[in-house]
Amino acid sequence: MDVLSTVVKSKEEEEEEEEEMSLLQLLTSETRDFLITPSGDQVKVEDLEGKTVGIYFSANWYSKCQQFTPILADVYHQLVEQGAKFEIVFVSSDEDQRSFDVFYGTMPWLAIPFCDLQSKKNLTQKFQIEGIPSLIILDSGGKPIQTDGVELIYRYGVQAFPFTSTTMAELEAEELAKHASQTIGRLLCTDSRDYVFKQEEQVPISQLVGKTVGLYFSALWCPPCVKFTPRLVTVYQQLKEKNEDFEIVFISIDRDETGYVECYQSMPWLSLPYGDETAKTLLRYFHVQGIPTLIIIGPDGKTVTREGRNLINLHLEMAYPFTEAQLSLLQDRLDEEAKNYPNSVHHIGHRHILNLVSASSGGGPFICCECDEQGSGWAYQCIECGYEIHLKCVRESEKDGFNEKQLRTVIPACACSSGY
Ligand SMILES: [Zn+2]
Ligand SMILES: [Zn+2]
Repeated sequence: MDVLSTVVKSKEEEEEEEEEMSLLQLLTSETRDFLITPSGDQVKVEDLEGKTVGIYFSANWYSKCQQFTPILADVYHQLVEQGAKFEIVFVSSDEDQRSFDVFYGTMPWLAIPFCDLQSKKNLTQKFQIEGIPSLIILDSGGKPIQTDGVELIYRYGVQAFPFTSTTMAELEAEELAKHASQTIGRLLCTDSRDYVFKQEEQVPISQLVGKTVGLYFSALWCPPCVKFTPRLVTVYQQLKEKNEDFEIVFISIDRDETGYVECYQSMPWLSLPYGDETAKTLLRYFHVQGIPTLIIIGPDGKTVTREGRNLINLHLEMAYPFTEAQLSLLQDRLDEEAKNYPNSVHHIGHRHILNLVSASSGGGPFICCECDEQGSGWAYQCIECGYEIHLKCVRESEKDGFNEKQLRTVIPACACSSGY
């Protein structure tokens, strides 16, 4: 008992000490009291005092970071224009100086120099960063106030500033009220339009009331969308054949109308008119963080899940009607299957050992590095670099009698006929 209480106490003390670390201590090192700017200039860390600061952990090799950076840059520009006391500091997880230069070239804010690996390590540890992109918000006194800055930016954009608990509570209450009164009509209708399209034809939105409806955010320019759409078409047609009360509405993120027309040609379901403002409203309302995204609305007009794409990938038409009850049934089946997989594997596409994780042991939503599709729950994960793949996507090197060293020499020699 005594030993335990000593340990607990010293831990608390440690935490208190850490709390007291100032912005200066956090962002400087023994040999560096400055940050760099995109133009290569230096800015003293002490110049940041009195500002709200976002510490941005990111890397150019990860698509989620590439997607989020321009969104953050947009918010940053708007806040700077408004004269907000706000700054962002990039902490890079890029693999080398060149990748850092390229990625940092897309950012308008400050950065820790790439060569200062010790500071990066300290900050990653201090804020217990487990995945990227990550945005930690420090208040004007240098105290951490939000650890999920990425989510907050996706949800609220500029409105999230200054990220205080009061602002967050207000925004959340507003949002809750909107979601509580949500109906399919409120989601899709505007003052001047109460229909969607089925190819050229107008279909009244009232026909969707009482059905399970998928809102499908997609675009022609997005390779994962082009890959996912045929899968969704198959599922849609199977559900239609079974006469399920299911419908999908395409919400185009295409960059021009030609892209939209071509994209919609491959879809047998409904569509919002191209260029309709509703698309943007829905993107923010559902915190869409990347496409393709499939949001499922239940027969009562309320959101059933934002994970439709993931669920279709995992379970195909079995996912319908996407309810908790159906998913827990399917989850039990997956858990049973996972028992047959080894705890760690050497995957052909990766240099580190991968570990089997479940939702309860560190597995969360991810993009599979092998097939580029979403996954969640069971996965094989690399602790060293964040590489993560579906169980079904593992191609074990041992299985083929290769070890890692052999593979490096064997693959280039016979790449044309090896079938990899
Ligand atoms: Zn995969
Ligand atoms: Zn790795």
